[in-house]
Amino acid sequence: MISDSPVVMGGAVRRPSANVKTQNSKVDTKAKANGNVNDNVNGKESTYKGKEHNWALQASSRINQDGVWQHVLTIGIIYLTYWINQQPATGRFYDALTAKYGAFNINMWGTWIVSSAVYWTLGLIFMAFDMNDTLHSYVKRFKIQPDRRVTWAEYRQVLVCVVKNQIFVNLPLIYGVSRWAILDTSSNLPGWWKTFGVYFGCMFCEEAGFYFVHRLVHHPKLYAKIHKMHHQFTAPVAFASTYCTLAEQVFSNIGPILIGIVIMRPHWSLMILFFCSLEIGTLCTHSDYNIPGLYDALIHDWHHYAFTENFGPTGLLDDILGTNKQYKVWLAELRRRDGEGWKHAARTALADATQ
Ligand SMILES: [Zn+2]
Ligand SMILES: [Zn+2]
Repeated sequence: MISDSPVVMGGAVRRPSANVKTQNSKVDTKAKANGNVNDNVNGKESTYKGKEHNWALQASSRINQDGVWQHVLTIGIIYLTYWINQQPATGRFYDALTAKYGAFNINMWGTWIVSSAVYWTLGLIFMAFDMNDTLHSYVKRFKIQPDRRVTWAEYRQVLVCVVKNQIFVNLPLIYGVSRWAILDTSSNLPGWWKTFGVYFGCMFCEEAGFYFVHRLVHHPKLYAKIHKMHHQFTAPVAFASTYCTLAEQVFSNIGPILIGIVIMRPHWSLMILFFCSLEIGTLCTHSDYNIPGLYDALIHDWHHYAFTENFGPTGLLDDILGTNKQYKVWLAELRRRDGEGWKHAARTALADATQ
């Protein structure tokens, strides 16, 4: 049991208290599924619609809410890919690479190595900010649930699972696509509209596929076997984006991405663009930091916290299908409190508990 592990807060090792929790704190799944989440703040009965959320209370963690910067980031990544592809040297590079290794090896090993390298590089940066107190002090004002930090034991558990999923799910699925839907690796590189269109076509498949598979695995008959593991972290860390069962990794995380790729069969460079962009997105949205300039982490963080809302990656289908009502109500309430300079009781309690 890791739930007894000490939690590092502000340089001191503390035992978990009512307000400082490890990530393995057991959650009453049935109560959550029924919407009866009881966040007992400092032992007091809640005062807001039967419950007092201890989530995104720092106004600084909401600066990035619905920001345009994440769209700038997305367009920037797409444009960078387009720009690189337009350089004459890039065409020569692809021809030389294909001549040397062959299209299959680039599709298979190139995809796996590049996507894994991007995932680990950014994930380790987030991990450093989680585990090093000096680095953490620079970003803690953007932390959505600042009273929750993971332990080394929990991180080890997550990293083992990440490696397992990358080897036993990602690799075979990439092999399948490389074998039966091999992508072009020649110097016949796509222009702007194709790059843009493929990205948003893939994004549409991802939004729809992830949303509906995710709702399905929240069904009581599937939840315990497939998805419960991913919800072990109510305040996740970046690497926890791949902390899930093999089945979830196949059907929820990788399946929808590959469907878009197989339907459109773009140039290999566009598959790498989409993979890396989604990886950056999922690492940011699981990081529990809502840092301006990066992807808005509030949407998915709320899903881990509140469990019954925000099933999609972008929030679009949640808006359309109304699966984010409490989320919107709580954000509106926080904005109202910001406007009034309202001091949250849980913040005061937290400050007391961590002094
Ligand atoms: Zn879920
Ligand atoms: Zn998640």
